[in-house]
Amino acid sequence: MSIEQGVLYVVATPLGNLGDLSPRAQETLAQVALIAAEDTRHSARLLRHFGIKTPLIALHEHNERERSAELIARLKAGDALALISDAGTPLISDPGYTLVRAAHAERLRVCPIPGPCALIAALSASGLPSDRFAFEGFLPARATARRAHLTTLQHETRTLIFYEAPHRLQDSLSDMCAVFGAERQAVLARELTKIFETVRNDSLQGLCDFVHADPQQQKGECVILVQGAPAPLALEHTIALDSETLLRALLTELPVKQAVRLAAAISGVKKNDLYDLALRLK
Ligand code: SAM
Repeated sequence: MSIEQGVLYVVATPLGNLGDLSPRAQETLAQVALIAAEDTRHSARLLRHFGIKTPLIALHEHNERERSAELIARLKAGDALALISDAGTPLISDPGYTLVRAAHAERLRVCPIPGPCALIAALSASGLPSDRFAFEGFLPARATARRAHLTTLQHETRTLIFYEAPHRLQDSLSDMCAVFGAERQAVLARELTKIFETVRNDSLQGLCDFVHADPQQQKGECVILVQGAPAPLALEHTIALDSETLLRALLTELPVKQAVRLAAAISGVKKNDLYDLALRLK
């Protein structure tokens, strides 16, 4: 594979297991002129492991604006550059948004080199519905703001995914218990791809107890996933169900005509519809 000049490559790097750096990612990192990294010391270790000698430059939340201008100038001059973060996919709760936006504004090509991402790895192994999900990133650190934010998500029907720092894991889980209900199904995905990996599917209360009982679970990097709220029944469906229950009860005590008349008066459903239903129920 050979890289194209003037392209910004957004390269995913391992979450822990170095075997997850794809061959395409390795080739890209080896061939670009410069790699913008969140923490150059951390990324230097990764590059050393793979024998990659490409120079690194720091790009983090405190210098992203000025650094982006510099990198855009290099891209416009024809250099190929790569963007990486400390772990996983850049821009996913990581720096890079300003640079990628600036590249698009200049009509430069931005090419993803996909790979590890904690939220996707956690979801794929969670056993929770994965057809629709909402990634919420990190919750607010302060308890009041965190609970208020969770309350806005109480009725969300999609699977919810949160990143969390280990020292806030217990507090966040107990707030989720209080807001979403102790019985809501959830998953703790910890230390993914590392030696002490945990993927535990349980009720929120079960997860609170599990983490509380084992101090080991209170350390390391983690993702919390929570099953969405049950979808509300459509209004007609609710009425139909209620009127059927009502009609069934009345039919046990009254003749059909009388039962239908009363059920129609109480539920507002058309007499003819209830009459047909009564005949089927009889
Ligand atoms: N860009 C990264 C990605 O693609 O997932 C995420 C970076 S964000 C600053 C760091 C958070 O990702 C951690 O606090 C944790 O919630 C999650 N994370 C990163 N590595 C993880 C791992 N090995 N196991 C579980 N969660 C992880």
